[in-house]
Amino acid sequence: MDYLPIFIDIKKRPVLVVGGGEIAARKVSLLLRAQASVVVVAPQLGSILQQQLDDGVISQLKTTYQPSQLAGCALVIAATNDGALNATISNDAKQLGLPVNVVDHPELCTFILPSIIDRSPVIVAVSTGGSSPVLGRLLRARLETLIPAAYGRLAELAGRFRGPVKNRFNSFNQRRRFWEEQLQGSVAELAYANKWQEAEAALQQAIDRADVGELEKGEVYLVGAGPGDPDLLTFRALRLMQQADVVLYDRLVSPQILDLVRREAEQIYVGKKRAFHAVRQEDINQQLIELAKQGKRVLRLKGGDPFIFGRGGEEIAGLAAEGIPFQVVPGVTAAAGCASYAGIPLTHRDYAQSVIFVTGQLKDGTVDLEWQTLVQPRQTVVVYMGLAGLDIICQQLIAHGMSADMPAALVQQGTTQQQRVYTGTVTTLNQIVADNEIHAPTLLIIGEVVKLHEQLAWFKPA
Ligand code: SAH
Repeated sequence: MDYLPIFIDIKKRPVLVVGGGEIAARKVSLLLRAQASVVVVAPQLGSILQQQLDDGVISQLKTTYQPSQLAGCALVIAATNDGALNATISNDAKQLGLPVNVVDHPELCTFILPSIIDRSPVIVAVSTGGSSPVLGRLLRARLETLIPAAYGRLAELAGRFRGPVKNRFNSFNQRRRFWEEQLQGSVAELAYANKWQEAEAALQQAIDRADVGELEKGEVYLVGAGPGDPDLLTFRALRLMQQADVVLYDRLVSPQILDLVRREAEQIYVGKKRAFHAVRQEDINQQLIELAKQGKRVLRLKGGDPFIFGRGGEEIAGLAAEGIPFQVVPGVTAAAGCASYAGIPLTHRDYAQSVIFVTGQLKDGTVDLEWQTLVQPRQTVVVYMGLAGLDIICQQLIAHGMSADMPAALVQQGTTQQQRVYTGTVTTLNQIVADNEIHAPTLLIIGEVVKLHEQLAWFKPA
């Protein structure tokens, strides 16, 4: 992050704006909205600023810039068309430790002004760090359409009820949950429909009738995060990620996805690598129970789908036994994600009528699978965790009657910008692994459908 976003209270504080033209005027109007006491340094003012001076909303120092004018200012903005002067102002301000902005010159700034969406008291600020103000504005336009106009008034309503809510619920967690429910429920809906009296009444009623015990209860969300691309999350996954108090995640969950979890949530890594279980499964199960019993909303975030080779069933069995509420959110499993992003349809009328998912995990140095079932014709076989046992798997399939020319693919880090697809046959795959640095997570897809990859591959990672 190149800049720390903060919101500054500049009400009635002096802000020096050097320059009297149109660009200066734009900055001044923003400063006035934030109720700053604006002092413009310029021998002459443009029409907008002149009008504001006449109206008495700004003041003017009718001279050229002098360093002494900086004394006592909260912020400085240089908006002259003289590059050398702008640089001098920037230097002087920096020496005094004053935040300074030089319009259109990020290299001279110690602060920059973001694009804003104003639903006061709600303000959304967007910045591209000076790299593309236009992109910032485009993003702002998109956000504008997402944020209902009534947001500002809704915030005001919530502000008025802060005191009563604080009196009614004594823990921070209770209050947060109460607000989350109200601001996503009927109170918000009434507000968006501009039914303010009803909204206020509904809020009052919710305060009176709330079940404090219910608001204290812990819960576990077992959520599938998909194979890597954050765009493949479900809406429900995202919503629960945004309201968790603590998240337990493993290695398959990508950093981009973890970034979408509520920022204040405590993060616990319980990563698993093959043959090296950083945290034992029983300990994870136990930890979920304990955290939920502390009243926390626990997000158990897993790669792909929690119920496909994810031990999701084991994790919630303990919760069910303890009577702890939980919900399970499906995710895009690696087979579906990798197949789509590799352009390999798992079924196809010409090639495969069925698809079978198996785990290729080694047990005591060997792979234990129903080989006879796997070599059935017109079937696609998807092997999870199959990299280490790849050699044995391919040998066994051929030994049980699969054609030695059967097409096969390895999809490494599928759906991410690091995706790599290697295709060959059950005979050549082993050499492909030997020749390339292939690492987990990698998915093995075997069947005639792999032939379609060449024609259908559409996803081109950077
Ligand atoms: N529950 C997960 C699977 C966990 S098992 C799911 O539904 O996808 C872990 C195995 O999944 C890995 O060894 C690998 O074979 C596969 N896998 C998961 N994510 C993957 C990805 N992005 N690319 C390729 N394979 C992946």
